[in-house]
Amino acid sequence: MAARRPQYQRVPIPHRPAAERVHDFAEVALTYDDASAMAEAQRCLQCYRPACEAGCPNHNPIKAFIALVAQGRAVEAAELLWAHNPIPSCTGRVCAWEAQCEGACPLGRKGEPIAIGALERYLAERGLAARLGSPEARPAAPWPSGVEAVEPGDVAVVGAGPAGLACANALSRRGLSVTVLDGWMEPGGVMSYGIPEFVLPKRAVAAEAERLRRQGVRFVQGVVVGRDLDVDDLFAMSFRAVFLAIGANEARTMGIPGEELEGVVTAKDFLMAVARARLSDGGHGSEELPELGGRRVVVIGAGNTAMDAARTARRLGATDVTVLYRRAREHSPSRPVEMALAEEEGVRFEWLVAPRRFIGQSGRLMAVELVRMELGEPDASGRPTPRPVPASESVRPADLVILAVGYGVETSLPATTPGLETGPGGRILVRDPSGVTSLPRVWAGGDCVTGANTVVHAVAAGRLAGEAIAAYLAGAAAGAAPSPGR
Ligand SMILES: Cc1cc2nc3c(=O)[nH]c(=O)nc-3n(C[C@H](O)[C@H](O)[C@H](O)COP(=O)(O)OP(=O)(O)OC[C@H]3O[C@@H](n4cnc5c(N)ncnc54)[C@H](O)[C@@H]3O)c2cc1C
Repeated sequence: MAARRPQYQRVPIPHRPAAERVHDFAEVALTYDDASAMAEAQRCLQCYRPACEAGCPNHNPIKAFIALVAQGRAVEAAELLWAHNPIPSCTGRVCAWEAQCEGACPLGRKGEPIAIGALERYLAERGLAARLGSPEARPAAPWPSGVEAVEPGDVAVVGAGPAGLACANALSRRGLSVTVLDGWMEPGGVMSYGIPEFVLPKRAVAAEAERLRRQGVRFVQGVVVGRDLDVDDLFAMSFRAVFLAIGANEARTMGIPGEELEGVVTAKDFLMAVARARLSDGGHGSEELPELGGRRVVVIGAGNTAMDAARTARRLGATDVTVLYRRAREHSPSRPVEMALAEEEGVRFEWLVAPRRFIGQSGRLMAVELVRMELGEPDASGRPTPRPVPASESVRPADLVILAVGYGVETSLPATTPGLETGPGGRILVRDPSGVTSLPRVWAGGDCVTGANTVVHAVAAGRLAGEAIAAYLAGAAAGAAPSPGR
């Protein structure tokens, strides 16, 4: 009889070796097969009070889906999870499990927690294969685009990122007709246009959107609300409620000399250019991948966006890629696993250093002037405040600088929506967790409310808003519900 796997050791999740993966955009983490997934799920203690579910910002039904996977019923597990989270093949790839569900698993106290993220991805792929014929099937038809394609329904959702998709899922499951409008050409928001292919393949995002389309959700891409039409136009078209899920995609810069030089770009522009080229691979355009063969690249910042930009630069041929951060390694906002993968791929890190100016010649970047930093008292975020060390300047040659220093909310939609209250950084102000705004029949959620955050937080906000909007519309139909908002 085969020896039983110790309960505290997880079934390893396969990864492609660094030397191979750094030359292409194919996914780094691979998925469990049926036997591995069942073995991993069978380690679950099935706790009476599942701490993993409390640790998940969307409170996914983790205990129940793991029990189904343990019995070899992955497709049923996917159906169960989709009722709560419309994009498990995405959250199963990008969530910070170690700080959320897996961080709360009691097995982690003596050994390795259940690989909840890997199981979520596995069951989503089995479910998508059952529904669509393949876990990453291309959408059956192009996404409709342009204002003329907008068909009125019960609810208009503005933004097809995770918050918008979760709201649309919650509403359409309750029998309401939903139209999702989005300015970009493919649904998915940052999952399609920011997070790189080797972390989250575009086809996985498209497959989840296609599943939602087959559930009855209408998508109209290439429509910018606030430019092509406004929120009042949506009500005039007879939508009964609107959910704003426009994200936080306004890239911040540093305001230091030389940012205007050719060769200084934001991570948003850099990653979007690569994403558009990758999407065009699938027949949606003709953009070409940027070429960085032999270039020296400096990435400023150390969050997830910085890791994605640095690892993308390596895949585009840059030989020397250095991430600079003004605080210490332990203060980096990136997931430790992302940093480890970047290091394996040859990305270098330098801590306690910040750029002072970018130096150019004839309008083109040549170098970065750096200053060493030391750490002082904690700031409002609880992290020590970095301050420059006197007379510690140095100059580093660079061909490309990528600024990954944060995102704000774009102001054009709030600016064209009279009465919509916004707060610091342009964030839309809401009055409760369901996202009631200052405007009647208008809800908001995701990054446009919280500021740059995570996929699962956006999913939770969208789901709560969808449930609240459905309850409001049911009450309004019965003549009971007052309109939330002002
Ligand atoms: C490079 C990068 C890497 C990341 N990596 C991770 C990660 O590993 N794990 C993780 O959990 N999170 C990650 N995040 C964060 C995560 O992607 C976001 O928190 C999440 O996508 C927010 O979802 P959202 O629905 O609020 O907005 P978004 O995903 O930003 O979607 C907003 C959508 O609204 C549309 N829109 C905006 N304005 C309008 C308008 N006026 N009219 C019509 N449409 C409009 C946009 O086109 C977009 O499609 C990353 C973010 C970036 C930028």
